Amino acid sequence: SNTDKYAVFGNPIKQSKSPVIHAAFAEQCEQDLQYRAVRVELDAFERSVKSFFDGGGCGLNVTVPFKQRAFELADKCSIRAQRAGAVNTLLLAEDGSLLGDNTDGVGLVRDMVANLGWSLQGQRILILGAGGAVRGVLEPLLREKPRSLTIVNRTADKARELATEFGELGAIDGGGYELLADREFDLVINATSASLQGEMPDLPGSLLTARSCCYDMVYGAEPTVFMRWAALNTAWAVADGLGMLVEQAAESFYLWRKVRPATGPVINQLRNSLAAA
Ligand code: NDP
Repeated sequence: SNTDKYAVFGNPIKQSKSPVIHAAFAEQCEQDLQYRAVRVELDAFERSVKSFFDGGGCGLNVTVPFKQRAFELADKCSIRAQRAGAVNTLLLAEDGSLLGDNTDGVGLVRDMVANLGWSLQGQRILILGAGGAVRGVLEPLLREKPRSLTIVNRTADKARELATEFGELGAIDGGGYELLADREFDLVINATSASLQGEMPDLPGSLLTARSCCYDMVYGAEPTVFMRWAALNTAWAVADGLGMLVEQAAESFYLWRKVRPATGPVINQLRNSLAAA
């Protein structure tokens, strides 16, 4: 058939919401495409990508644990993917070469700015965690011209290294959680995976002001422990990462199809299905 083929490659992949999201975008934008979630064996990523595109595939998303390998595999990468050192979106150029991009950061920024109405310009931003997700969002966040950006991590050296690496893009510092004593932030982003285990780093409540916003990259049916902490410490606004997930997907869809889906209805659809599950 002429139906254009897309997929997400990851391992594990069962929990992926990407097929539901892209099916909703395709229906909304009247695009004839199919999008599947594929569990790829750890040693088979590179050849699976090649055979997908050789077989007429149009575009791929890449998720854990293959984002760095997708970056290595791509012939050319966008600036934001180069900064991230990771690729979550692959597509073919006119000349058949493989292009890599990273839409995670723009997804986060768009969710905060366009959906939630949080301005980042001139704000003091704190990021908890220094893993792959943080690396992916730093360049788009710094483009919004915050007053300062602080990264703290359990393994303090990883936060310091990121601060050094991205230092030319803005006022950024990094270190261990002891950096947080007697400091206040306008926006706190939890990018640790601790939420997945129902945990969070030990944080002083004095971090927040009455105007502070708190964002957890993790999402689920219930507020995370970080979101509950934020509410208890009277944050101004609290959000989870569902919007980021849908926005990064929308940006990938746009790269592939050159049409921008409306994300609001799809965020609502996913929110409702999470609540019903
Ligand atoms: P990584 O495994 O690369 O990094 C995990 C980070 O969490 C590290 O900085 C680690 O610190 C820290 N951490 C883990 N457990 C604890 C703990 N108990 N206390 C303090 N710090 C802890 O993960 P990613 O960066 O890829 O992802 C981070 C989170 O973001 C995940 O939960 C993921 O689901 C979510 N995410 C959401 C997206 C969305 O679209 N909503 C997109 C991408 C990611 P250390 O270095 O010391 O080990």
